[in-house]
Amino acid sequence: MPYDYDNQNIFAKILRGEIPNATVLETEHSLAFNDIAPQAPVHVLVIPKGPYVNYDHFAAEASDAEILDFTRAIDAVARKIGVTPGAGAGGYRLIANSGEAGVQEVPHLHVHVLGGRPLGRMLE
Ligand code: 5GP
Repeated sequence: MPYDYDNQNIFAKILRGEIPNATVLETEHSLAFNDIAPQAPVHVLVIPKGPYVNYDHFAAEASDAEILDFTRAIDAVARKIGVTPGAGAGGYRLIANSGEAGVQEVPHLHVHVLGGRPLGRMLE
């Protein structure tokens, strides 16, 4: 299935510097910034810099270097903000909403890193 990337989506604008963001971490292929409407004391979004609509698209078409960078960037964010299990805050949750049923609002792959409080068994 071809992936139709909308380069006017809000995260594309953030990547182009057209909209400000509170950057937590930046790597060669990834950017992490605070969510504008945090759902937990820690709520960071990690995105690949490449034009990928969702995880499905990314897994199918990103290079090995991009996938490795993104995977490590998520871990680096968790370490930097001190939520890795055993680091006091007691862990975190990763979420990647995808498509309509996943209620994905912004059509650029992003992984939510949530933590800083007990999160319960699931988020709605
Ligand atoms: P989704 O529902 O697509 O998984 O999540 C999109 C997330 O992007 C939401 O948590 C929302 O608060 C966040 N968001 C939407 N617009 C902006 C923005 O302009 N800046 C930042 N930092 N986050 C945004």
